[in-house]
Amino acid sequence: MNPLKTVLMAGGKGTRIASVAPGVPKPMIRLCGKPILEHQLDCLKRNGLTDIIIVTGHLGQAIQEYFGDGIGFGCNISYYAETEPLGTAGALYRFRDALTDDFLLIHGDIIFDLDFSRFAAFHRERGAQATLAAHPNSHPYDSALLITDAECRVTGWLSKEEPRKWYKNQVNAGLHILSKRLLALSDSGGRLDLDRDVLKPNIARGGIYAYSTPEYIKDMGTPERYAEVATDIASGAVAARNLSRKQKAVFLDRDGTINKPNGFIRTPNEFELLDGAADALRAINQAGYLAIVATNQPVIARGEASLEDLVAVHRKMEAELGRAGAYLDDIFFCPHHPDKGFAGERPEYKLACECRKPKPGLLLQAAEKYNIDLSQSYMVGDEPTDAQAGIAAGCKAAFGSLAEFVEYGRQHLFCGSAANYV
Ligand SMILES: [Zn+2]
Repeated sequence: MNPLKTVLMAGGKGTRIASVAPGVPKPMIRLCGKPILEHQLDCLKRNGLTDIIIVTGHLGQAIQEYFGDGIGFGCNISYYAETEPLGTAGALYRFRDALTDDFLLIHGDIIFDLDFSRFAAFHRERGAQATLAAHPNSHPYDSALLITDAECRVTGWLSKEEPRKWYKNQVNAGLHILSKRLLALSDSGGRLDLDRDVLKPNIARGGIYAYSTPEYIKDMGTPERYAEVATDIASGAVAARNLSRKQKAVFLDRDGTINKPNGFIRTPNEFELLDGAADALRAINQAGYLAIVATNQPVIARGEASLEDLVAVHRKMEAELGRAGAYLDDIFFCPHHPDKGFAGERPEYKLACECRKPKPGLLLQAAEKYNIDLSQSYMVGDEPTDAQAGIAAGCKAAFGSLAEFVEYGRQHLFCGSAANYV
């Protein structure tokens, strides 16, 4: 498989962040001693992605003078200098022939550290026309959100300004793998906005997917975010989240740990966050641990709730946590139940599975998906079966409640600014 060609869109003016470095094109703003673009090239190079096209616009000459043909940076760089503004996708049509069948398109103002081989495999396995990197963030209430089905196919897209109630915390991150076939579907006129003119009109065709990843991706849109990213690069937090590296996780039971134990939860109305849950989760997020729910939901096997109901409950959970600046990296659930013979049950889920806690199956699935070192991870849950699942999976320790875990975390895991949020 040939490596993907990468297009870096470095033409943006960056008016909101101009105060950080006046007169410097946004992708050339320095972070920890290097321009943003150079951080991008470094990560691409580590992934073997060295064939680069940089699209320049405003003050583009400074970019070309710095990077040249790329040899000094271990890359092969060519340029497309826009003489008129072509939007975030218009330039692609001007050098379409130079692109590989699938190619990466990355906005020039984001810092990221991804395992691109996983991203590309996801795209290829689905034969996607476009795959958008997505992630949960701490302000989903005012971010562009991708709505997906169970196969990760994008079915809807909320722009920043659109109202939302309950939703999956899945924010469009500005990193894409596109197929050249997609370009053939759109008008190749002048100025084109990638999201509005190329991606959104093609959602209904079903070829656009979201690749949700907990890896580090953050844009430099404001001076505040610029400062956060600089801190994260210096502390090693950016590199640590790359999924080629072992991850640490806190596994969380749901009912009785995150939300009030109101009997079996069948609808969003029955779901209420416990006091302190969002604060605890935010501390876990900031301490660099993946926050992953592992929950038994026998309501599915019993026929008391459908998978759609469960998705709706989880959307409420993610939206309410997001409102408080906290997020989950993923949710794993067991829909099964072993005892047969009840009215209304769904026989296909009535079985002795490997994922119902106290078995460790959910934790093992998560460990496989996210390259988690279970011996550096924790389980938190209010039932003995939670602790048993955590121990069976090989977790470092198990806790009976979030309060108990937070007390431990304050002493051992949450340091620096994270402590302020507990
Ligand atoms: Zn199960």
